[in-house]
Amino acid sequence: MSNSRFKGYQKCAFQQWMLDHKSWKMPYKKAFLIGSYVDAFLLEDETVQEELLAQNADKIFKKRGGMYADFENASKMVDFVKSNQKVMSLIEKSEAQKIVKFDLDGYKWKGKIDMLCETKVYHETKTLTDPDKIATTKQKLDSSMVKQIIDLKTTATSMLELQWDAVKGIKVPTWELYSYHQQLALYAHATGTIDNGAKIIAISKSEPFVIEELYFEPEILKQALNNVRAEQEEVHKLFNSKEAPQGCMTCDCCKEMIPYRKHTITKEGEWAL
Ligand SMILES: [Zn+2]
Repeated sequence: MSNSRFKGYQKCAFQQWMLDHKSWKMPYKKAFLIGSYVDAFLLEDETVQEELLAQNADKIFKKRGGMYADFENASKMVDFVKSNQKVMSLIEKSEAQKIVKFDLDGYKWKGKIDMLCETKVYHETKTLTDPDKIATTKQKLDSSMVKQIIDLKTTATSMLELQWDAVKGIKVPTWELYSYHQQLALYAHATGTIDNGAKIIAISKSEPFVIEELYFEPEILKQALNNVRAEQEEVHKLFNSKEAPQGCMTCDCCKEMIPYRKHTITKEGEWAL
């Protein structure tokens, strides 16, 4: 299982099942390619960068030369991050695009971690200098090197901006809408770093560019991991199902594959998709 497939089943089991059975193809999404472009030009070597450009030449380059505006902009985003000393030092201290295979309660998982960073954390230790005078304590900042997962994201909105979540029926922050903490939790578990927390470095897509660093504490990661533990049996059932599961009825796949919907209305205020 991968996080993206798992998320697919959480969002619309019908769409993910159709994708897995090659009965439906995800239409091209420019936002995904922009994300891959930024990832490749910050974290990968030239071979991977050239491969990405060659495979997507028609989408990135104009026929008469030069890049389309969205990719000119992606290239500016890369330059902006490269000019930021803090992010660059995190990238330098990281193992980039690390492939992991791991086990969660007997289920096999795999994933690719953007950055596994060796970082310094500071923790405050208080020592009593005089046992009789509790107020007289000495504060000392200790530091130690720990490993931490860092995920690079490109984003059209702030990571903290509230957006409508159709599944939950409430507004949630961008990071929660896309379950970014679930991915961090799985990868932190895979690398045994969950107790160190994990980070997202998000780069805004429009000028003036902004970089947001979000630190997720161990507790929220452990909660997200427990949610995956609780849901993985059900997700595997859907994944292995011989028949297509129930759809969300609102995604592109549901619209394309189930274009005719018949509803029976019996009373006011009654609704179901
Ligand atoms: Zn759907």
